[in-house]
Amino acid sequence: MPVDKLYEKAKRLVESRRVEPIGAGIYNVIGDHGTYTVVEDHTGKLSCNCEGFLKKARCSHVAAVIILTKMKGKKLE
Ligand SMILES: [Zn+2]
Repeated sequence: MPVDKLYEKAKRLVESRRVEPIGAGIYNVIGDHGTYTVVEDHTGKLSCNCEGFLKKARCSHVAAVIILTKMKGKKLE
């Protein structure tokens, strides 16, 4: 998946509120094909348990968490 496509998909996940923090550095992401867990380690590195991440070390779920984290810096309406 091209990076911009991945980003678009990630944005859609965030906008449809399918990214949910379930603990410190742990996020539940409801993807199109299942629910995945994105975990942030002590260095701030994110990882996901989906097949795409295992193969390519990046996926829309991790990207969605990055978008959500960035959004937190802004004031929410
Ligand atoms: Zn993933």
